[in-house]
Amino acid sequence: GVQTCALPIFSVTTEGDIKIIHLKPPIVVRDFATALGLKPFKVISEMMEMGIFASMTQSIDETVASKIAEKHGFLLDIKHRGDATTQQAQKEKDKDKAKAAAEDESKFLVPRPPVVCILGHVDHGKTSLLDAIRKANVAAGEAGGITQHIGAYQIEFNSRKITFLDTPGHAAFQKMRARGASVTDIAVLVVAADDGFMPQTDEALKHAQDAKVTLLVAVNKMDVKGANLDQVKAQMQQRNIPPVDWGGEVEVVPVSALKGTGIPELLEMIQLQADVLELKANPKAPASGVVIESQIDVGRGPVATVIVQRGTLKVGDAIVCGPHWAKVRALFDDQGNNLKEALPATPVRVIGWSGTPDSGAQFKAVKNAREAEGLAEEEQQKQRKAATSADAAPKEVSVETLFANIAATQQKTLKVIIKTDVFGSSEAVRNVLEGIKSTKVSLEIVSTDVGLVTKNDVLMASAAGTLILGFNTKLENGVTPLAKHHGVRIETFSIIYELGDKVREMMADLLEPDIKEIKTGAAEVRATFPLAKGFVAGCLVTEGKVNRNATARLRRGREIVHEGKVATLKRFKDDANEVRAGLECGIKLDDFNGYQVGDVIECFEIQKVRAAL
Ligand code: GDP
Repeated sequence: GVQTCALPIFSVTTEGDIKIIHLKPPIVVRDFATALGLKPFKVISEMMEMGIFASMTQSIDETVASKIAEKHGFLLDIKHRGDATTQQAQKEKDKDKAKAAAEDESKFLVPRPPVVCILGHVDHGKTSLLDAIRKANVAAGEAGGITQHIGAYQIEFNSRKITFLDTPGHAAFQKMRARGASVTDIAVLVVAADDGFMPQTDEALKHAQDAKVTLLVAVNKMDVKGANLDQVKAQMQQRNIPPVDWGGEVEVVPVSALKGTGIPELLEMIQLQADVLELKANPKAPASGVVIESQIDVGRGPVATVIVQRGTLKVGDAIVCGPHWAKVRALFDDQGNNLKEALPATPVRVIGWSGTPDSGAQFKAVKNAREAEGLAEEEQQKQRKAATSADAAPKEVSVETLFANIAATQQKTLKVIIKTDVFGSSEAVRNVLEGIKSTKVSLEIVSTDVGLVTKNDVLMASAAGTLILGFNTKLENGVTPLAKHHGVRIETFSIIYELGDKVREMMADLLEPDIKEIKTGAAEVRATFPLAKGFVAGCLVTEGKVNRNATARLRRGREIVHEGKVATLKRFKDDANEVRAGLECGIKLDDFNGYQVGDVIECFEIQKVRAAL
């Protein structure tokens, strides 16, 4: 039944046992508490437990609100008018944009290309679509360049540029968001026309909505038999994101990545949406932006792909990014072309780093290399301090990191830092590790570097909660005691498959072990004897052996009457540790006295077995 509450800010309905609160953002603490039937103070204190501080009149992040509601047995139905491209989302985006814009003098603002990411269920064609878009562009423009996957690329369509993140999959998207980076303007949700919405499609949709980016739906595989565009549209309707031609706000473009059809229409639609967003940036400002990915390149040292968000990044600039810094030695685009400078929304590979910055980390240009190095050093010291201080818990926990942490503990992750003798072997180690497949535990390579395992590695590992894998390398003096002090595990190897096996083992060790019962013996109750307190069973061991303290089960026919431990085991008058088959003994189980002749006492050994990956 549905019953509606007459308050204007929210309504509550019930469906079966489930109570649903319908409300519109912003979710203000006071109203939210009323909706839950709680005192606002209670909501505030629950948020504090989550590391979030809010007053009565402040608004709550939707994910946080959902968590709290769930705790009190409610589901939240947050009504964005329409969907991710709604006015509300738009307003917030506008607000952010306005803030950034206010910093710049508006006269310097010039239009910038949109940054687009592609999300969707596995095998629905994200990679194919990214390739098709790229190919279409190369055919139209300067062919011959060697395309490299650097984490992002830029194309030109109708003489205007579009930047695509080509790390498909929302893991990458989430990772960037978890670090607070909002680099994307538009998310293209790929849905296979024959499959329709799948679990990861919904997940991706949720991420896009949470990130408040403009949403477009590309219905892929229109060429296959069984392609059903209307079904996808109906599914969109069900998910409260009705397509434009059904009176909603989300544009739908049918495509075939395989045949290359619909790609121009998709690109056109992206540009239309970009026009609506009025994306602008100041190319004259000092450069800043976000790291997309980084790695160590043979011959070039650490290399990072970045997207410039503001300003223009030039060769010779000094930039700082967390504990790392760079004097920009060279810039390359995704075709491997050498660039002098990169304008806003341009993805470039930057050479000249002191180390490999994290994906999602923000970088900014500073006055000179000295300042960059100084700032990076400061950050390193801060990290070291955090690592060495007794309670290394970060004080300020953002909602994003909070949930990233929660998610990380649910989906177990083994994080590793790799140190090897030469670049070549780090590639080999990476290959072996990437070959380990598991649905239950993920493996995260936090960094790879060449050289000895240093004290700094230990501090970093301690701060990041990783272990250190050394391959064909040794430990610097003093590393062992420091690692012991910080509880950092270091494993070194000289044989690659041993490394793989060990990592597989360590990943499995993160899982709850499978519990296995091994029957060790059984005894039949032949008589019962009263004691001062309770009874003892006179038994004949019929199978295996009975041990004192063994886990035991008392069976009466098919029924299990009691489970416990063998508390007392006697052979005649004496205590015994073990009685073998064929012998008589007295057994008393803990907390049990109701033995009957004919009962069978079965004994077990509980073994913990390493779970399968
Ligand atoms: P991803 O996991 O989402 O990146 O999906 P992929 O791009 O790897 O594509 C998965 C499979 O679908 C591959 O075998 C592709 O060849 C196929 N595929 C992708 N796009 C199309 C399409 O438009 N039509 C058809 N028939 N197959 C496609």
